[in-house]
Amino acid sequence: MVNTESSRLARPGRLGAYGTTVFAEMSALAAASGAVNLGQGFPDEPGPVEVLEVARQAITDGANQYAPGRGMPALLDAIADHSRRTYSQDVDPNSEILVTAGATEAIAASVLALCGAGDEVVTFEPFYDSYAATIELSGARRRVVPLEPADDGWAFDPEELRGAITPQTRMILLNTPHNPTGRVFSHDELALVAELCIEHDLLAVTDEVYEHLVFSGPAAPRHERLATFDQMRERTLTISSAGKTFSVTGWKIGWVIGPPFLVSSVTAVKQFLTFTNGTPFQLGVAAGLRLPDDRLHRVVGRLQERRDQLCGGLESLGWPVMRPQATYFATVDAGALGGTDARQFCLDLVQSVGVAVIPMTVFYDEQHRSSGNRLVRFAFCKRESVIAEALDRLAKW
Ligand code: PMP
Ligand code: GLN
Repeated sequence: MVNTESSRLARPGRLGAYGTTVFAEMSALAAASGAVNLGQGFPDEPGPVEVLEVARQAITDGANQYAPGRGMPALLDAIADHSRRTYSQDVDPNSEILVTAGATEAIAASVLALCGAGDEVVTFEPFYDSYAATIELSGARRRVVPLEPADDGWAFDPEELRGAITPQTRMILLNTPHNPTGRVFSHDELALVAELCIEHDLLAVTDEVYEHLVFSGPAAPRHERLATFDQMRERTLTISSAGKTFSVTGWKIGWVIGPPFLVSSVTAVKQFLTFTNGTPFQLGVAAGLRLPDDRLHRVVGRLQERRDQLCGGLESLGWPVMRPQATYFATVDAGALGGTDARQFCLDLVQSVGVAVIPMTVFYDEQHRSSGNRLVRFAFCKRESVIAEALDRLAKW
């Protein structure tokens, strides 16, 4: 029997300090305790039947072996068509797209391929949890620009962004629409990012997994692709994923779009992470990307109703909630309810009334924990009855 205390085997793994992600932890806790899970962002309704049916048929038809390294041709073509149709962005399916195991692998392969020791990556805080881990794995340093709650949602100070850029900066890693805040970066904000990337010769990686989950209404924002800004095409990797758009988070089909030399660098890393994945699911997603726009609008229309149900319900309970412009997520100021430790607040909520949500501290650097410690994230990509049950339970809190 190895003595794990003294043996070299006990040496912590590279990301040992990260432990289990809070999403997995909260989902497990919800399952074990019978809590309503408004934590991890996954929908509880099936995606478009056309998408599911194509994948089912593909399995029956024998599309069950390795896909080509860059992805199934049908999906590469569909991604290129979708980019042209949606963003007037012309993309060569043979050299400018790589299919990945979800956006998570796309982000990891991009950062690992292009950043290393001595480099800095600028990102906005709060940031999606995989960014910190991935930047650390690459050996680069993370520098964050705070997004602060503002009248029209969340905003950053342009001077903070300028100030975050140093001679070591290699990349700006941007998530729009943004998890967890639901912020859609405005045209002017993206123009500033573009200006700085050009001025300092930086790469941009944009995580756009919520590109189709933008809500409508007065003063509704429009999601724009940084890669379509002047001179940005040659320095931008655009990342997206089928998980959110088609409610298939378990399929893990994502992609990267960018100029051939950058996509080749990312492919070199990706091929030794997973090589390829999800052959029949790639075919399902290809069918999804070819669905008429009104099918996608129907999904976001239903999600907007759930947003209004959850946010309206929380408001009527007196919970201070920020209604997001996009995504699956709403932010609640737990500080105003007496919560000064977001994690403890979430644990109390599960135990006392049986509702699981996410402490926003996990989206902040250790030294900025106090900013996230008042905030908790509610996911509303759930059925009407599930949200109603959560609100009933919260009324007893
Ligand atoms: N980026 C953001 C901002 C996310 O919220 C998520 C979670 N879905 C991902 C990336 C990962 O996407 P995927 O499940 O496709 O790996
Ligand atoms: N993106 C999902 C969320 O923010 C979680 C994905 C995961 O569990 N890694 O809830």
